[in-house]
Amino acid sequence: MPKAAMHRPVDPTTLSARARPGPLDETDHLAGGRLTVDLAALAANWRSLAARAAPAETAGVVKGDGYGMGLEAATGTLADAGCRTFFTATIAEALRAKAVVPEAAVYVLNGFPPGAAGLVADADLRPVLGSLEEVEDWAGLGRSRGRAFPSALHVDTGMNRLGLARDVAVAVAGRADLRPHLGLSLLMSHLACADTPEHPLNARQLAAFSAARALFPGVPASLANSAATLALPDTHFDLVRPGIAVYGGQAVVGRANPMRPVATLEGRIIKIREADAGDSVGYGAAETLGRRSRLAVVGIGYADGFPRAAGSSDTTGGASGWIAGHRVRLVGRVSMDLLVYDVTDVPPDLARRGDWIELFGTHVPVDDVAARAGTIGYEILTQLGRRFDRDTVGRA
Ligand SMILES: *Cc1c(COP(=O)(O)O)cnc(C)c1O
Repeated sequence: MPKAAMHRPVDPTTLSARARPGPLDETDHLAGGRLTVDLAALAANWRSLAARAAPAETAGVVKGDGYGMGLEAATGTLADAGCRTFFTATIAEALRAKAVVPEAAVYVLNGFPPGAAGLVADADLRPVLGSLEEVEDWAGLGRSRGRAFPSALHVDTGMNRLGLARDVAVAVAGRADLRPHLGLSLLMSHLACADTPEHPLNARQLAAFSAARALFPGVPASLANSAATLALPDTHFDLVRPGIAVYGGQAVVGRANPMRPVATLEGRIIKIREADAGDSVGYGAAETLGRRSRLAVVGIGYADGFPRAAGSSDTTGGASGWIAGHRVRLVGRVSMDLLVYDVTDVPPDLARRGDWIELFGTHVPVDDVAARAGTIGYEILTQLGRRFDRDTVGRA
């Protein structure tokens, strides 16, 4: 990862966006932490999912700012790897993706608000139609312009969020004033429990989706997210839509994660200090030391998106970090700008002021930190802050 040091003037205004030449750049001194986004790992993860899914096509899901990794970087990297179909949540995200890959099909999962159908069509975006109102708006646009614009139809199979209920889908399939004007390029649904492959809802949703397909013959079909791409091959159909697995996160509960980590967050050690057995550490005196300890104080906190709930106390263990071959545990609460790790068992010359502790990434799965915080890796990645340095590496 480290490349040769390069000297150039520091411009703090561009700190979060710029691609940094290497860890010895003097801008290192400005932030308390750094996020390294490994785009080579991102591309490798997508290729490995595409190989599992073939002959089905593999799309790229880049919503949530590319799961926190940067929408443009993720979109460009996936396009270079061979991805031709993208999904975003919002129209704004879709416009950003389209600017990177003008030739690609870009679907908007959350559809469009009243009055926005023309804007979506003019931008060559494909809405995922998830309600009868959206279906009617999109068909109306097609009728008024004398041609149908591509779209996906979302049928609900058990999530009860977006998507047409079964009886509405039946009605739409039979309505000559709607069906020919929709430009359906995809029929899709979304699984509620794919992360738990043996959950009975998966089989029920698969059956409901197969029934919906019969209503729209000839329209390519898509059901699988990351977990289903990995663990439910019956759900692959014509197109799979993996998100979290592409970004290195855990998709299937209770199984080894076959993906490469993409995001590594490190915090710099501000100081090393000692404290006695019986001393408490941090706010609320939440944790009391059981031994004389050497502590590393790190300049990252919940203001950087590190979850406060991952802290440690006398009754609950917190997250672990990693430095120089050693797993080190968090001590006490997560502060706004600081974390404290117990480095008593790390040789003193390997954990000094100015050194970096990995908070998650290559050695500590983000999902381990998430589990300690009672959440999922998706939330940590998409909530990452803007205060630390971002270093994007591995772009082909
Ligand atoms: C977010 C999303 C995906 C990707 O889900 P992962 O669990 O991240 O793989 C696929 N399809 C839809 C409809 C989504 O909203």
